[in-house]
Amino acid sequence: MIEVRNLTRTYGKKANTFQALRGVSFRIPSAATVAIIGKSGSGKSTLMHLMGGLDKPTSGDILVDGKTLGDLKRRDMDRFRAQDLGFVFQSFFVEANQTCYQNVSLPLEINRIPRRRRQKLAEQALEQVELFDKIKSKASTLSGGQKQRLAIARAIVNSPKILMADEPTGNLDSATGDKIMELLFGLNRRLQCTLIIVTHDAELAARCQYQIELKDGVIVHVRKPQTAANKEAIDKSRTAVRRTAPERPII
Ligand code: ADP
Repeated sequence: MIEVRNLTRTYGKKANTFQALRGVSFRIPSAATVAIIGKSGSGKSTLMHLMGGLDKPTSGDILVDGKTLGDLKRRDMDRFRAQDLGFVFQSFFVEANQTCYQNVSLPLEINRIPRRRRQKLAEQALEQVELFDKIKSKASTLSGGQKQRLAIARAIVNSPKILMADEPTGNLDSATGDKIMELLFGLNRRLQCTLIIVTHDAELAARCQYQIELKDGVIVHVRKPQTAANKEAIDKSRTAVRRTAPERPII
């Protein structure tokens, strides 16, 4: 479960301050799919960076499985980021001069995973994104879609609890974008990781169970999946309307 409580983030100082987030709160259960949507400048990346522990809020809290990120000591925060999070951020792009294997095994080296295990996990991650045949190729030789798949392989190699992606289909043609979408949703199902996507892509957002829409640093709309209880209540009220409808006088 990820819980965001009254989060604010102010950039700059004195006369130049800008409030990028102005009190954002929501909860997401584990293994959910979530789209963070809104126009450019609405605060999406700021929110994502805070949830990934890459930046600190001005006020408010983020709790992951009951742990408040702001309370973590630096070492624990580094461990949380290295072990529990996977990022597919455009700014964290692949290392062009390194092979696919080197790119994917990097997070494992940081986590001090022994070489044999590293090799196995890196191969598995490349297989998941169908890049096993490119294991020895330099990242610079890959197409745009393949590079994005490589970035995803690197993000999932640690089997993260939470996978975050910033505009994962942004620079891709629609057929390649569709494949990346399928891959991300497939990984969410297979690995049971919470998938959080910042996107402008309406189709991608619509496929997520949760949609959180930001405008000027506040949430203007949340779409949640129907729970069994509220679905039943909605169905009942619909049935009640249908039953009473014929009894109304016809004007
Ligand atoms: P989005 O991802 O929705 O495009 P951002 O979260 O990147 O929006 O930015 C939200 C607002 O905060 C924007 O107006 C942006 O200019 C401002 N902003 C983002 N980063 C900084 C920063 N480091 N310093 C000052 N303002 C910033």
